[in-house]
Parts: sequence; structure tokens; C-alpha cells
Amino acid sequence: MKEIPVTCPSLPPMDEYIKEIESIWDTRILTNMGEKHRKLQERLKEYLDADKIDLFVNGHSSIELTLEAMDLKGEVITTPFTFASTTNAIVRKGLTPVFCDINYDDFTIDVSKIEKLITDKTCAILPVHVYGNVCNVREIARIAEKYGLKVIYDAAHAFGVRYKGKGIGSFGDASCFSFHATKVFNTIEGGAVCFSDDELGSKINCLKNFGIQRLDDVDMTGTNAKLNEFSAAMGLCNLRHIDSEIGKRKAVYEHYMKRLGGIEGIKLLKIQEDTDSNYIYFPVVFEEEKLGFGRDDVKSELSKYGVCARKYFYPLTSRLKCFGDKYASQPTPIAQYVSERVLSLPLYAQLSTADVDKICDIILKLVI
Ligand SMILES: *Cc1c(COP(=O)(O)O)cnc(C)c1O
Repeated sequence: MKEIPVTCPSLPPMDEYIKEIESIWDTRILTNMGEKHRKLQERLKEYLDADKIDLFVNGHSSIELTLEAMDLKGEVITTPFTFASTTNAIVRKGLTPVFCDINYDDFTIDVSKIEKLITDKTCAILPVHVYGNVCNVREIARIAEKYGLKVIYDAAHAFGVRYKGKGIGSFGDASCFSFHATKVFNTIEGGAVCFSDDELGSKINCLKNFGIQRLDDVDMTGTNAKLNEFSAAMGLCNLRHIDSEIGKRKAVYEHYMKRLGGIEGIKLLKIQEDTDSNYIYFPVVFEEEKLGFGRDDVKSELSKYGVCARKYFYPLTSRLKCFGDKYASQPTPIAQYVSERVLSLPLYAQLSTADVDKICDIILKLVI
């Protein structure tokens, strides 16, 4: 039986990559912000509409080092409907996550519930552009300004998304991206942070390179989070094909919508108004009280046919074992409801229409 994975990394044609890395044998510069790094940085800055950008070894360290460079202390308002990385970064930097609920409509932070969570310890808001859906950036900016808070977006899902014509790298004090193999755009492993403040940028840049800014001394207790030249070369290649990759994803998304749309109890991801999506995931909320079966039934039925679907996101990060019961009592009923019912179906550029049909047939058989 042919297996259908939930995701599949994009790769450029092999000879294109080989051509891209050839010059590395001349320069012998393998890392430490070489030519590939500089080129990729420039191209991404433009693509993401960023004022400034810095590249990282992965998305997670871009979040951690941004929090560190901002010198934050106290509480950070965030959502538990995300990948462990978001919450781990907050806790690993000695900060306390305060969990805000999400909208049922688009799964991003419910901005009407943020102000009630603000205390004199609140220092920042760290919302997630989950599944490529754009947070209510205007309202978040208003609240942040009113209370003097920093805004750091976890934009790991939102590479290439545009909102009202503006690139996703242009919002908040910083936006953190992941270029992991499974994301819309990859550098094998990698990440970036977009920002506009020069002082913040120089701190972030210093922290990713051991805190070294000059010869013979170290200014900050930094770490090593540099993106190497082979990864940057992969990024340069993948970026040339990004529009066509997103186009192929869009076709898969549209076929799913055609087959699964309009069924009572099956909630699909709508593309937000004024937004160019990147079609990163195809999450489906199976409202079991209406359907008579739940997402676990769908998951196990699909797996019988070799189709891998993922409970993305389950559990909520507020309930992860590593946090014990420290945060589990914070009520986020909508996030809880969704995490118990959501299943992400396979979506990647190479997924064929026939495979989408096969997946939809299996699900639709359960409905009847
Ligand atoms: C992938 C991801 C990250 C972490 O990125 P890495 O590049 O894997 O370190 C952070 N947040 C979210 C929401 C993600 O999906």
C-alpha cells in the first residue's frame, strides 16, 4: 500500500542545488555569514517585506533570542494552540506564559480577551499566525501601544502570506519564521527574525554568534545559532520556486474545499479576507456532536488506508507534561474544543488530485 504522508518537503531540482553550492569549493567558506547567507538575507528581506532581517539555524532559536535581546521580564500573553516551540521559548527565557483563548473562526488569538489578562507584570504579547492565518495585527498594535508592550509574532506558519498587500514580515516589533524542512519554505533547518529597530537587531545578531561583536572580547553571553552556507544555498534555490510551490498547494487546498465543503459538522479553514494565503496546512475540525464520530475515528480510518493525518495541535501547550499543572488551569475553552477535534490532512505541493480524492472518499464514507 502506498503511504500518503501528512507533509513532504519541497526540494529544488538536484542540479540546481549542485550548481548553487559549487562556489563553496572555491571560497571554502562553509558558515559564519558567508556569501550565500548574505544573498539569502537580502532576497528574504524583500520577499517578506521586512524592514530588516537576520537569519538563524532554526525558527525556535529566533524566538528565544528575540525574547532575550528585548531583555523581557515577567508575563507574556500568548495562545496555547501552537507548537511546543512557542511556549517553550517563553519558559526557557525565564518568562511566564499567560494563555489567551483563540477565535473559532481562524484559530488566532482572540483580541477581545487580551486586555483582561494584562497585569503590571505583562511585558509582551506573542501571538501566532497559526496555519498561516493572520492575527488581528491592528488591534494587537493598538493594545500594545496603550500598555507599552512588545509584540513578537510567531510567524512560523506564515511564510509568504500577505495581508492587505503587506508582507507578513512587516508587523509587530519582531516576526519569527521557521525554515524547517516541513514548512512552506525550507533551508533544511533554518529560521529568521524580521524587525525594524537597529538596536534590537544588533543585539540579536550578537547573541547568535556567541556575543562576539569585536576582536579580543565578548560583549554578551551569546549562543551559536548561525545558518550555514549549505542551508542558505538550499534557501536560495527553494526561493526561486516558492510561487509555483504555493500555487500547487493552493490547487490541493481548492480540491479539498470542493470535496469536503458545505457539510454540516465539518469545519474547514477559510482563507481570510484581504489575505494571500500560503496554504501551509489543511486542518479540519470534526464537530463530533454533530457528526456522530470524532477526529480520532477519522484518523484511524485514514491510517487503515496508509494516509497519515496529524492531531495538529493537540494537546494544548498549556497542558504539556513538561509544565506539570502550572498553566493547565488557565481557561481557554475554544482552544480546548478545537484541539480535541482538529485533524490536519495531508497537504504538500506534490500531493496528487487522485490522492486528495482518495482521502476525501474515506472521510465522506464516514459521513453517510
Ligand atoms: C515549526 C514551528 C516553530 C519552530 O521552528 P523550527 O524551525 O522547527 O525551530 C515554532 N513555532 C511554530 C508555530 C512552528 O510551527
